Amino acid sequence: MTQYDITIVGGGSVGVTLACALARIAQLKILLVEAAPMKGFCTAVGVDVVARKHEYRRYFDAVSTALSRGTAEIFHQLNLWSEIRQYATPLQQIHISEKDRFGQSVIDAKQEKVPALGYVVENHWLTSVLLAQLQKTSVECRSPVSITAVKPINEGWEVVLSNTAQQTKDVVSTKLLVGSDGSHSSVRKLLGIEASHEDYQQTAVVTNVVTEKQGLMAFERFMPTGPLALLPLIEKRYALVWSLPPDQAKAMIELSPQDFLVHVQKNFGHRLGAFTQVGERNLYPLQLIQAKEMVRPHCVLLGNAARTLHPVAGQGFNLAVRDIAALTALIQRQYQRQQPLGDLQSLLNFSEQRQKDQTKVVQFTDTLLRTFSRPSEGWLGLRNLGLVTFDLWPSAKHLLSVHAMGKGAYVKLGDKPDETI
Ligand SMILES: Cc1cc2nc3c(=O)[nH]c(=O)nc-3n(C[C@H](O)[C@H](O)[C@H](O)COP(=O)(O)OP(=O)(O)OC[C@H]3O[C@@H](n4cnc5c(N)ncnc54)[C@H](O)[C@@H]3O)c2cc1C
Repeated sequence: MTQYDITIVGGGSVGVTLACALARIAQLKILLVEAAPMKGFCTAVGVDVVARKHEYRRYFDAVSTALSRGTAEIFHQLNLWSEIRQYATPLQQIHISEKDRFGQSVIDAKQEKVPALGYVVENHWLTSVLLAQLQKTSVECRSPVSITAVKPINEGWEVVLSNTAQQTKDVVSTKLLVGSDGSHSSVRKLLGIEASHEDYQQTAVVTNVVTEKQGLMAFERFMPTGPLALLPLIEKRYALVWSLPPDQAKAMIELSPQDFLVHVQKNFGHRLGAFTQVGERNLYPLQLIQAKEMVRPHCVLLGNAARTLHPVAGQGFNLAVRDIAALTALIQRQYQRQQPLGDLQSLLNFSEQRQKDQTKVVQFTDTLLRTFSRPSEGWLGLRNLGLVTFDLWPSAKHLLSVHAMGKGAYVKLGDKPDETI
């Protein structure tokens, strides 16, 4: 049975970022398993290693992520930022408005005295940079491999892994098991960790659009049916995330491209001129899922497995990156002091240290969404007043910008900060 120090289950953006961060700690034996095929990437014995082409391609249909400045800083400390930044769009302003209402507000990088409020990056480019980095490390990757069973052993876990392509099984042992396997985490279920599920009764329509005008301003437009966000991308495109009741979202993706653009135009208005082109439209059902425990002896949940947030405030990945930085710092300390990995007290301390930030982000996202999604007219007036006073009230705006920039709970990996971020 092969023994690992750390086994990361789930090679999404969170699992791969963690693997890149941990790979900097020399001599840790790390395994990453991913259920979906990671073609051309696997280093596992018996799987062909095909050279991956690491280059930017202009996708029209890709999902994008708004990275906070705090996340950019952590990627800088991992020596990944300069590459990610090549195809990231700096956010100079965030415009917040409500359909058919007077109130609007703008958060401005200049007023906040920062080079950018954050950066928008297409997920395929972010993942491509992370995977290319991972290939340079000694982290062992296996895919398509799923975790199917776990058993506690002295100082760790015995883990059963199933290769779905080859119909084979393998058993490994690990001192620390990390569940970064998404909203419906198998690790969470196998360990019997309960999770609360709250259905927002909304589904996000995600696509890219081309508009007549282009800038470095992001838009968040609140409507009684749900928020519509537009994030600027390089090459004159905007990433669109439109949260709607599920039946309306489904209807939106069944419309012809032209009819869909007419609906977007009608709801968003003419700030960006005409909407001229749209890519493939995809649906993402939106839920708030929160694991009731983030740690167990020799086990940690991260990313969507720990908490899945509504994308309205663009916080899910940013929050997970701060968790990754804090966990990496803990493992680094334990490794240097030759302490056992994954002891419960250290993991509980880590979880407690991160709780304040996590609670704030969940509350902020939830409040933002609920405040602007209540259909009652009286409430609409109050919200309208809220947005107007919000614009005149610099400290409230500053608070929102702090969340947008991910400065609220700054986590450092220890290297020199980049003043240009
Ligand atoms: C429309 C939308 C827009 C968003 N925009 C933003 C934004 O602007 N900013 C931001 O910070 N966040 C944003 N988010 C949130 C962000 O996308 C998530 O926080 C992030 O994707 C979480 O990544 P993850 O790796 O934890 O989960 P996932 O991306 O779900 O990855 C989990 C991985 O685990 C694998 N897996 C599952 N089960 C197993 C198993 N049994 N064994 C092995 N592997 C397994 C899966 O194949 C998958 O690859 C957005 C989310 C949505 C839906």
